Amino acid sequence: MIDTPSTMRPAFLSNPDKLHFIDGKWQPSATSEAIQTFNPATGKVLATLARGGQADIDAAVSAARRAFEGPWSRFTPHERYALMLRVCDVIERNFDELAVLDTLDMGAPLSRTKAMKEGLLKTIMYFASQAMNWSGATIPNSLAGNYTTLTIKAPIGVIGGITPWNAPLISMWWIMGGALATGCTAVLKPAEDASLTTLRTAELLTEAGVPAGVINVVTGYGAEVGAALAAHMGVDRIAFTGSTVTGREIIKASAGNMKRIQLELGGKSPDIVFADANLDKAVPGAAMAVFNNSGQICSAGTRIFVQRSCYEEFVARLVAFTNTVRVGDPFDPAVQLGPLVSERQLDRVMTYMAIGANEGARLAAGGIRLTGELSEGYFVAPTVFADVGNHMRVAREEIFGPVASVIPFDTAEEALRLANDTEYGLGGAVWTSSVGTMTRMIHGIKAGKVWVNCYGLADPAVGFSGVKQSGYGVKGGAQHVDGFLYEKSVCINGD
Ligand code: ADP
Repeated sequence: MIDTPSTMRPAFLSNPDKLHFIDGKWQPSATSEAIQTFNPATGKVLATLARGGQADIDAAVSAARRAFEGPWSRFTPHERYALMLRVCDVIERNFDELAVLDTLDMGAPLSRTKAMKEGLLKTIMYFASQAMNWSGATIPNSLAGNYTTLTIKAPIGVIGGITPWNAPLISMWWIMGGALATGCTAVLKPAEDASLTTLRTAELLTEAGVPAGVINVVTGYGAEVGAALAAHMGVDRIAFTGSTVTGREIIKASAGNMKRIQLELGGKSPDIVFADANLDKAVPGAAMAVFNNSGQICSAGTRIFVQRSCYEEFVARLVAFTNTVRVGDPFDPAVQLGPLVSERQLDRVMTYMAIGANEGARLAAGGIRLTGELSEGYFVAPTVFADVGNHMRVAREEIFGPVASVIPFDTAEEALRLANDTEYGLGGAVWTSSVGTMTRMIHGIKAGKVWVNCYGLADPAVGFSGVKQSGYGVKGGAQHVDGFLYEKSVCINGD
């Protein structure tokens, strides 16, 4: 059994119960009910979380509204910017603890969570830079008379942020960053499987000087506290990252007060490898595009389309690479993949392994739950299904595990037809040395983000959004910040 060293247990975990963080203070649930969160590497209880409900959401939304209308509304852009630099400093100083918490809570190797430091700090700094960078416009008009017309932007109000468990360290910042940069306030509902980093971050923000009530965190189950937040009449906008099924529920729940919504949902992204690609890069690149974070990434390149003339060679090299990927104790620096986040996710992934085999796909690597010293955690071997048909369930449904489906194609037209034959449109990639092929794929792939000869890279200044059932609303870039603002048009009579 994996034994996490006690030196790796942040003091934060020793607090007896993790409560909601509302109005700058720890507060128990109105019902005093609790839920447990598990360490997925050991299957053991890691911490007890408050099980929130309607009353807790009411309290958090009221606190967020009071904060929105209080002194926070009078912070100048420069004051918000300076505050965010202090936030960045506090997060940097406490980063190692946050990385350990995420690793314990959702299982990603510590090498991975620690490597997120630069990207996280860049993200906070990017949003800090935006605090002084949003504006309206003065627009010439054709009205008869002495009129001046302009637009001004204003913060939209209280943001409800519902986040997933696959990368809490960074996910929360798509809400906190936008809120702090614009003068909005937020109530976050982290995933029940991985809430600790968000709770600790909220506490750290207070240390940095973020006023009470600006960022609140309520924990609990999605169907209870998440649904209450999504439907709350005091919430002006919901930012949600999660499954397409839940995304639909969020849209329905938003109807009561016409909330604005940003959704990043599921994916089944195509990764297209042409015979003229540099396979030394394409093989590990396409493999890790599926396996990174144990396949628990919305934009993972789970359908690998390979041109037939290099198909057999690619599959052989992919299998050889897959068999070298180290899965195990997330605290072992040599380990590349940790466990899946939960027993539920393990069951789901194992079910798809069986479905792939029953559908007639060729299991070329993996396909098993790992045992021995890993048997008490939720570990699976990285898996390759070859000779997959794009109609098979393993090629159509989001598995959210380290399972690659490899599909042959002959021509660029066929590759595009198959790549776009999906209900999703989150990401996509092409590996080729031809500028012509690259250009056709960039224009042809129907997805919010396309990578060329690489996969998964992201920069906070470069926004992206899904198409089709992968959601809408931009994450990152100036348009992301714009989502936290509304526009007023103003007409001034100068006479
Ligand atoms: P997954 O199935 O991968 O856990 P979900 O979409 O269910 O993905 O979860 C993403 C986030 O949405 C989590 O924070 C979860 O608690 C929350 N959630 C789940 N169901 C609902 C719901 N009906 N309303 C609002 N939030 C929900």
